[in-house]
Amino acid sequence: MVLNTVSSAMDDTAFSAVARTAAEYGLGCEATAPAEIPGYRPLDNDRALRAWYLPAEGFIDARAWLATLEAALAALPNAIRTPAGTLTAAPGGGYLLDTPTGAFRAPRAVVAAGAWTTPLLEALDPDLPVVPVLAAAGTAVTVAGPEPWPRVVRTPNRAYACGLHAVPQADGTLYLGASAQAALTPTARPTAGALRFLLDAALSQLDHGLAGAGIVRTHHGNRPLSLDGHPVIGPTVREGLWVASGTHREGLHASPLIASVLADALLAPAPMTGTLSGPLAAFAPCRELIADHTLKEAAAEAATHHAALAAEARMRPPLTGAWPQALTDAYAARMENAYAAMPDGYVPPPDLAPLAYENTGPALAELAAAHLARHARAHR
Ligand SMILES: Cc1cc2nc3c(=O)[nH]c(=O)nc-3n(C[C@H](O)[C@H](O)[C@H](O)COP(=O)(O)OP(=O)(O)OC[C@H]3O[C@@H](n4cnc5c(N)ncnc54)[C@H](O)[C@@H]3O)c2cc1C
Repeated sequence: MVLNTVSSAMDDTAFSAVARTAAEYGLGCEATAPAEIPGYRPLDNDRALRAWYLPAEGFIDARAWLATLEAALAALPNAIRTPAGTLTAAPGGGYLLDTPTGAFRAPRAVVAAGAWTTPLLEALDPDLPVVPVLAAAGTAVTVAGPEPWPRVVRTPNRAYACGLHAVPQADGTLYLGASAQAALTPTARPTAGALRFLLDAALSQLDHGLAGAGIVRTHHGNRPLSLDGHPVIGPTVREGLWVASGTHREGLHASPLIASVLADALLAPAPMTGTLSGPLAAFAPCRELIADHTLKEAAAEAATHHAALAAEARMRPPLTGAWPQALTDAYAARMENAYAAMPDGYVPPPDLAPLAYENTGPALAELAAAHLARHARAHR
């Protein structure tokens, strides 16, 4: 993990937090000379002066892993795979899944449709007070470089996003990730801006030798990001209807835990209602919205992310008068206004701040107000 200056002091804080957390969990975290990192060849102006070597940190080729899961699923005798369909409450109880390849009825249904979860639930029951799931669109690129890299090289998490990373793939190519753009509904393809950002950052901050690398593939996905930024997992207030979504940037890592907790709960001899036990208990789909910050704190945190984004884009203020401070004050004022326009009881997590301050602000406020009203009606 490299610490360079193509961001803000947020990187310093995250870099220190990595060492603290590694120490807390007894994992290795050793200072290493950036120049000795295999593959790492940034432009001089963007080079890191500090880096951590994290010997216990693993990495996988996500596509190879997904193919393995597909094969395991296909081998299960009692799993039926269908194209997308509609889900309705079946007359007399249970749920009906109507698909182009047949209709299926079951006493219980788990909706795990990622960033597409909310419209499915709304079509089933518009009064269901499940925390809405939005999208954090993400783009990445796989390139074929001159030689395979032995390990991941990455920055800490950065403004509104997961930071810059290069992940070696099973076939010797290199995955460069990732952009993040909050959206009210999933988006279908990478934007030119996301690709430009990614290639500029990766080539200048990680390896300028990749300038001649072939583009093997662009990736585009929609991370399921809930209204309060936390997972939405477990039974709903509707008998037999479960949800598993809202994992945002951690769904792959968290999937073994989520799968085992859900399987245990669904297969328990006595049908479960209420909330799951254990580490997922706090994330019940019909819970109150979780606020990690007060409105003021959240707006200040979002202003910090905003300033970091400007630094990442290499924005430099004029050095006349008090421009740097004027920009800082302007970011703070913009966030305070955007956060003040949200309905009482809703504090957007920093990841959703761009939706609050862009022209999507009124739609986000409306979505939050409708959810809060639905929740209040259901819990009256
Ligand atoms: C660029 C990028 C990088 C990421 N990096 C990481 C990482 O390093 N580590 C990590 O842990 N996570 C990472 N994530 C996040 C991770 O991908 C998500 O958290 C995870 O995929 C969420 O899993 P899910 O099953 O809830 O949703 P999804 O994986 O989105 O799956 C939802 C599925 O539902 C299907 N669907 C939609 N509508 C319907 C319908 N009507 N009927 C039936 N099916 C439907 C969709 O086609 C889709 O297959 C990343 C995401 C992106 C975009």
